[in-house]
Amino acid sequence: MLESLVGLLMQAEVMKTQISVQETVDSYYVAEAGNASGHVIEIKYDVDSLGTVKGDLNEFKNVVAATLDDARGWGRAGLKFTAVEGGAQMHVFLAEASEVAKASAGCSAELSCTVKPNVYINDDRWLGASDSYNALGVSLANYRQMVINHEVGHFLGHDHITSCETESGLAPIMLQQSTGLLGCQANSWPLPSELWTKGL
Ligand SMILES: [Zn+2]
Repeated sequence: MLESLVGLLMQAEVMKTQISVQETVDSYYVAEAGNASGHVIEIKYDVDSLGTVKGDLNEFKNVVAATLDDARGWGRAGLKFTAVEGGAQMHVFLAEASEVAKASAGCSAELSCTVKPNVYINDDRWLGASDSYNALGVSLANYRQMVINHEVGHFLGHDHITSCETESGLAPIMLQQSTGLLGCQANSWPLPSELWTKGL
């Protein structure tokens, strides 16, 4: 009971901070995104499964689209994501854990991984998040948004960040929240300082 109350309070705090972050972003991406013209860059993507997955592919497609279209998401970096049937620049997979491990030496069966142009969301994490994340009392829906935004962040040219910007502040989306929060608060969306892209 106490744990779930703490979880709720933590979520409320995260939401409150996200709202205040969101209010400041409109002018932000033009200055911060390496997209100074203010032109919106379109990223065409498709979604599929890889290997044998237990997650529902249609649900996965819907959550990917909703996350990429969300006003709190990477669109704030001057990007627009369009789902296409052919000619995609980015391929998002709901992938069997062993398939993720096969993608690159830097990937493992335990986590999701991105090897451009492919974004692999690990089916096991999709279905059950991670032990350390679940211990925070944050929802699976939040985990799913976080892991999509984190992996797409790699596609956009981001490496990992290993600390909060302020003590106990929101975790950057590029912090590896699946393995631990390092004293930050769980956060599913890119911070204003992360609204840039490289090498698109
Ligand atoms: Zn990562």
